[in-house]
Amino acid sequence: MPLDRYNRDINYLRISLTDACNLRCVYCMPEQMTFRPRDELLSDAELKRLITIFAATGFRKIRFTGGEPTLRPALVELVKHATTTPGIESVGLTTNGVLLAGLATPLRAAGLRSVNLSLDTLDADKFRKITRWGNLPEVLAGLEAAARAGLHIKLNAVVSRSTNDRADIISLARFTQTQDWQVRFIEQMPFGNNAIFQKKNQVDENELLEILTSEYGPLDLVDNGKLDGEARLYRIPGALGCIGFISPVSKPFCADCNRLRLTADGILRLCLLRDNEADLRPLLRGGASDADLTAFICKAVHIKPWGHGLSQDVMAVSRGMSEIGG
Ligand code: SAM
Ligand code: SF4
Repeated sequence: MPLDRYNRDINYLRISLTDACNLRCVYCMPEQMTFRPRDELLSDAELKRLITIFAATGFRKIRFTGGEPTLRPALVELVKHATTTPGIESVGLTTNGVLLAGLATPLRAAGLRSVNLSLDTLDADKFRKITRWGNLPEVLAGLEAAARAGLHIKLNAVVSRSTNDRADIISLARFTQTQDWQVRFIEQMPFGNNAIFQKKNQVDENELLEILTSEYGPLDLVDNGKLDGEARLYRIPGALGCIGFISPVSKPFCADCNRLRLTADGILRLCLLRDNEADLRPLLRGGASDADLTAFICKAVHIKPWGHGLSQDVMAVSRGMSEIGG
């Protein structure tokens, strides 16, 4: 079992399958973003090998992300590999949903059980502005297809005064009244390339709770506030689903962090919001044995930083969110 030097059990790997995306969300990447050439990305065979090695090392949970993971031609095959790898107990996918309508059923057949779909508003004009050219009906079709395919759904909405507002928060939360979904509100995080991040745009949990309470009445705290992953959960009385708050800036959950991230070009990112990294690709392409790679992963786990340094204004600058995957 991979323990870091603070005794945290690091058993969750988020794998970015590509840094490319079919949208350009304003808080994530600039409109003129350039992407890595294909030969810099890990191949399907390299990814499969790594998944098997991580599982043998004690990792239990995998999430595929991006960029936009649905752009990876072998996504379904990679999901199938992960869901059938001994030791892996949970496989997830984070997607913008644009291509999900055609993929939900094959992904479910490949063993995927749940999907996190990013959606910040149900207003088509606002959606287009946030994503620069996204078409909301495509995403809603993806959402519907995922539900029809039997995938468990979590909606992730980044909240920021610069992009969405009270009406968006209320309408997204309404889904939980009739669907057994989680609708999670995420604080926008600052990255080097993320010029629009400003502290004054931050909407904290208390403000979100006030907004939701003013519409739906007092919310019930779920599980006494115990985090579900990184989300604190509430429920509108009588609702089927839950509302979650993910507040890495105002209420960091670093003490409970259990994850490493693998970028599409083969770098282990040890903390989302710090630039500490360990490059796996030279080993992978230099003939390293499984034992060499396992030792490298264990060493990387060991030196994982305690947590982010946003309260001391330490920001990640080497990569943006789209190059890490969230
Ligand atoms: N393209 C996929 C998607 O949008 O779901 C997966 C990758 S995206 C980088 C993963 C998540 O990061 C999305 O939910 C997105 O909204 C979120 N995200 C992007 N930039 C962010 C930022 N600056 N702060 C907080 N969340 C951010
Ligand atoms: Fe693309 Fe996801 Fe970033 Fe939006 S948040 S630009 S969909 S990677």
